[in-house]
Amino acid sequence: MKVTEHIAKAKGKTLCSFEIIPPKKGNNIEELYQNIEPLIEFKPPFIDVTTSREEYFYKKHANGLLEKKITRMRPGTVGICSAIQYKYGIDTVPHVLCGGFTKEETEHLLIDCFYLGINNVMALRGDARKEERYFQPTKDGHRYAVDLVKQIKDLGRGKFLHDIIETDYGTNFCVGVAGYPEKHLESPSMAFDLARLKEKVDAGADYIVTQMFFDNQKYFEFVEKVRLTGINIPIIPGIKPITTKRHLSLLPQVFKIDLPEILVSELEKCQTNNDIRQVGVEWAIEQSRELKRWGVPTLHYYSMGKSDNIVDIVSKVF
Ligand code: FAD
Repeated sequence: MKVTEHIAKAKGKTLCSFEIIPPKKGNNIEELYQNIEPLIEFKPPFIDVTTSREEYFYKKHANGLLEKKITRMRPGTVGICSAIQYKYGIDTVPHVLCGGFTKEETEHLLIDCFYLGINNVMALRGDARKEERYFQPTKDGHRYAVDLVKQIKDLGRGKFLHDIIETDYGTNFCVGVAGYPEKHLESPSMAFDLARLKEKVDAGADYIVTQMFFDNQKYFEFVEKVRLTGINIPIIPGIKPITTKRHLSLLPQVFKIDLPEILVSELEKCQTNNDIRQVGVEWAIEQSRELKRWGVPTLHYYSMGKSDNIVDIVSKVF
């Protein structure tokens, strides 16, 4: 089923969904199952699986020379989506990126999803590679997420790349796109960012999932501004619990998001990692409860490969 159909079927009741990351190359899928099984107890209507960008590394040869190689450390997104759908009967949402994929590879990936019965995809640009300051589009790939949305929607109309085939192919993906309550870090202004979001929606996006935020007021204001642009698709809040002290500097630096003063001071008082985890869990519970009262369609939790803290939160909210 599509994400939007799950939301419509819930008739205003808030759902809970999760985002997971594929295991590092070399790890077994059993570990992933063990990690997500506690989440499955909450009967999520859908689970997102992220896609990681390719990375460079240097392979050292016997003669001492270094060879630049490219790899993907967490491959397997579509395979994991399919495995979860068939093992647990839960819909999945693979993240599809512009960065690191040619349009041709994206077409093939979408065809795989179609054959596997995956009805939803999240269309994202991806970040700049670690060694680059700014995002560089892949040769023969897309520059912006809006172009990816257009390709996905074209395929739904039976329009393949290069106009080689036009048929009533039958893919009909429900497409999610990213939204930023505190604006995307590269956008010069919120108005600019909202205009770009509107372009993604006009191209056919069916729902929006937000970047993490720690102050619900930012989400409420964002929804108000988005609605003023004429966008009326669901806006799903993304919730990430803080788990380490490092997040205090890392999250503002990487995502350009603010942490509320009261949260910062609570975190600064913490002596141990367990104290930090507890503050993160309690903050996320309060955020979730308020968002649920407000009537958000889904509370979408970023698990980042760990489920114990998410279980603690969700069991108090649902
Ligand atoms: P876009 O919508 O393309 O926007 C990127 C920037 O370009 C914005 O500043 C926008 O304002 C600007 N822009 C857009 N169109 C134009 C235009 N025509 N002209 C000029 N500027 C323009 N990353 C991963 O690598 N893997 C994942 O699985 C992943 N999952 C995510 C899930 C969610 C819910 C979110 C919120 C983010 C996720 N990301 C993921 C991170 C995402 O890839 C980055 O935030 C990325 O920097 C932007 O992606 P986007 O799809 O919002 O890009």
